[in-house]
Amino acid sequence: MSEVKQVLTTCSYCGCGCGFYLKVKDGEIIGITPSQKHPVSQSSLCVKGWNGAEFVQHPDRLTDPLIKENGKFRKASWDEALSLLVKKFSQQAKEGGPDSLAFFGSAKCSNEENYLIMKLARAVFKTNNVDHCARLCHASTVAGLAAVFGSGAMTNSIDEFLDCEVILITGSNTTEQHPLIGSRIIKAAKAGATLIVVDPRKIQLTKFAKFHLKQNCGTDVAWMNGMMRVIIKEGLEDKEFIKNNTEGYEELKKTVEKYTPEYVEKITGIPAEELAAAARVFARSRKSSIVYSMGITQHTTGVDNVKSTANLAMLTGNIGRPSTGVNPLRGQNNVQGACDVGALPNVYSGYQAVIDPKNREKFEKAWGVSGLPDKIGVPVTMVPQLAIEGKIKALYIMGENPMVSEPNTAHVEKGLNALDFLVVQDIFLTETAALADVVLPATSFAEKDGTFTSTERRVERIRKAVKAPGQAREDWQIICEIATRAGYKMEYASAQAIFTELAQVTPSYHGMSYERLEKDFGLQWPCPNLDHPGTKYLHKDGKFTRGKGLFSAIEYKPPVEMPDEEYPLVLTTGRQYFHYHTRTMTKRTSTLERETPECYIEINPLDAKKYHVRKESLIAVSSRRGTITVRAKVSEIIKAGTVFIPFHFAEAAANRLTIDAFDPVAKIPEFKVCAVKIGGNNK
Ligand code: SF4
Repeated sequence: MSEVKQVLTTCSYCGCGCGFYLKVKDGEIIGITPSQKHPVSQSSLCVKGWNGAEFVQHPDRLTDPLIKENGKFRKASWDEALSLLVKKFSQQAKEGGPDSLAFFGSAKCSNEENYLIMKLARAVFKTNNVDHCARLCHASTVAGLAAVFGSGAMTNSIDEFLDCEVILITGSNTTEQHPLIGSRIIKAAKAGATLIVVDPRKIQLTKFAKFHLKQNCGTDVAWMNGMMRVIIKEGLEDKEFIKNNTEGYEELKKTVEKYTPEYVEKITGIPAEELAAAARVFARSRKSSIVYSMGITQHTTGVDNVKSTANLAMLTGNIGRPSTGVNPLRGQNNVQGACDVGALPNVYSGYQAVIDPKNREKFEKAWGVSGLPDKIGVPVTMVPQLAIEGKIKALYIMGENPMVSEPNTAHVEKGLNALDFLVVQDIFLTETAALADVVLPATSFAEKDGTFTSTERRVERIRKAVKAPGQAREDWQIICEIATRAGYKMEYASAQAIFTELAQVTPSYHGMSYERLEKDFGLQWPCPNLDHPGTKYLHKDGKFTRGKGLFSAIEYKPPVEMPDEEYPLVLTTGRQYFHYHTRTMTKRTSTLERETPECYIEINPLDAKKYHVRKESLIAVSSRRGTITVRAKVSEIIKAGTVFIPFHFAEAAANRLTIDAFDPVAKIPEFKVCAVKIGGNNK
């Protein structure tokens, strides 16, 4: 009998970054135990964490490279698949220019792998067309917070929530999406913290909240301007902080003047007195923290919404100290890291702009190349349209599933089908992989070494516990081989060697190494040198990364598609507890799939009555872009006039309904608001 081996690693689901042990016997994972000492897990995991490895050994795993011929996949050798891929990409780059190619990194893959895919795009194929699914969740955070603070990440740390006096939670169903952060917030509330929840749905946290402000979807700038007006009118702003640490205050003050609570009530539906009372509570505390997620970012005004959260924090001096700050909860396990290491079209690792010649020179030297591209690349969300227009011809997707995750699925499908050549590297044959010309079998988190960076900027190790199935290879090895075959010798002895290079070229990771990450469950960036202990909270004492914090004077703008006679309801989409993103892993996990095996719509009893919807019946829901059939959950969770559909289910993809309208700066889609009706689209 062989012994049970315990391998410490990091959860591959949400951005909380919990640590657990994979229990391995005879080369198989037989269980999971949470780490007692991990600063976030502290002996706990959520249901996804406890079941976080079942998919690893699922029989659906891809085991061999696949090549499509006459519309059908056949197994191929690695040599054959990679030769074809390199031939097609090189030919396309030669004939159509480097920018006729595009590369998608992945928030599920490691820092090392995302660093290499951006290196492959930039150093080998000479295009900045590299991006990943942060574009779909927190591109507004990266752009918005970088503009006002100089750094686009969670300002404080997870354990600081326990000590908050006030927590304003908006656009985050925290207990479902970031369960271990949700439980910290509940603990804080039980210990006396005041919760202000601003959300159109009655989420679990509202049970613990003093205020539940149910805004109309897409009116976030208006209610935040309204709160700020109350604070300024009543002299509750932090005058010293504003004077010493910020700029742009006078313009902000002028702009919010017209946002009286009564005017805001008309736009948002939030009762004037409640808004004013919540504003007073937030401003009077010295330990007020803002928590937000995709309910704030996924709008055509996503960047404006994010900047408004920063305005509120700076106005009240609630930033740069423990238990304060602006805290965007990053969704996937490594979405923070994939951004940090430069899987973005405008920056190298460490957010070093590609348009700055000094940065290009630095990376040319580090990578031993010349002629790095100087033009900002195209974001993920623009690729389908550019493919339809014939401007992007070949696409390499590492670990993403845009056929379920992107808005207006019919349009995405048209775009992917318009490509001359599509490669998908993944662990399952996803809805996107099914459209590919070549599919490459990759490895899960349990089959490789590397690092993830959690939402609190904590860089943590993942460790190889079991072998990959069949011929599947580690993503970084696949990328290295493609680069080498394309004429650039890319060789590393291990994931650790990639991390060493990454840390050398990335200022905020300079002081990190695998040796240091072994201790104390990782390090939080910025960690500029080997003696630096990492950083628990950013912008200490109001010293912002950009110098002074920048107030932004912002007017409210309504969403692009409002309800009308034909499509009278607002659809908002989001996640739910038992599933994750495009469900490729959770639907292959029996406990999770059993709990929620099908898609549903939450509809208020008043709307159910109006549109003749019976409880638990299957109903058609349509927007101008498509129709899906879902199970009706008649519930007061959701306010009248608005319906909610989780976006995980390919079989009834909410994104067949959502609109491909984008924030002008961040190019993030407006997933959170579009107009729908109950019933089919009869012509
Ligand atoms: Fe994994 Fe997030 Fe659950 Fe922690 S809270 S176990 S990181 S899914």
